[in-house]
Amino acid sequence: MSKLEVHQFICLSDNYGYLIHDSDNDLTAAIDAPEAGPINKALEEKGWKLNHILNTHHHFDHSGGNVELKEKWGCTIVGSKDDAERIPGIDVEVGDGDSFEFGSHTAQVYDLSGHTRGHIVFYFAEDDVLFSGDALFALGCGRLFEGTPQQMWTNLQKLIDLPDATLVYCAHEYTQANAAFALSVEPENEQLQARAKEIDVLRAEGKPTVPSTMKLERATNPFLRASSPQLQANVSLTGAELVDVFAETRRLKDNF
Ligand code: ZN
Ligand code: FE
Repeated sequence: MSKLEVHQFICLSDNYGYLIHDSDNDLTAAIDAPEAGPINKALEEKGWKLNHILNTHHHFDHSGGNVELKEKWGCTIVGSKDDAERIPGIDVEVGDGDSFEFGSHTAQVYDLSGHTRGHIVFYFAEDDVLFSGDALFALGCGRLFEGTPQQMWTNLQKLIDLPDATLVYCAHEYTQANAAFALSVEPENEQLQARAKEIDVLRAEGKPTVPSTMKLERATNPFLRASSPQLQANVSLTGAELVDVFAETRRLKDNF
């Protein structure tokens, strides 16, 4: 089995478009469809044909290109069964614990609702690749538009034990702003300090900070670090329930 190839490019202003390719079976999928133009251009550059769109959630900057791409390519659209009515052109409905066979690669589907109802992520365990949409960002997590902190906290635990080497491909380049917030709640975290410096260098050079790894996220992402004594102290919740620490961290970020 050949390795899953991931091709990353910018869509809209700060979304990432992703194409994944299974060369053994000449299959290509887009992870979300922020807009058709850049996705078609990327397909042309790579000489690939679009077979599937895997949607993480319904927001326009993730599904706005669905219909145009489906008309052009006849691709199959995969999305959450819990939000099917808001995923344009959906063909295949999946939910938590399901898997999607992409040629010789398997994506496990986890429900990570919270940012929206029916937000799913795609985890290719054998390839060490996670597409986390707007649920888990580099150094951040999605704003809770349609869910509660308790729900999001519970759902994030589905990812917490993924292997260190797992590459985390999130849907937006928000990392520099996320780093500023992360430093405000964990200023003495040395790995975070080092990461923030690297992020500044990458962004100054116009380079992406994505993907990151689960190892790095566990060590530096405040939304995965409710058990950190320093973070707890800085949100004035020492010894509190972890879900309450998470909720307060999310609330502070909303107002940062
Ligand atoms: Zn979104
Ligand atoms: Fe988004």
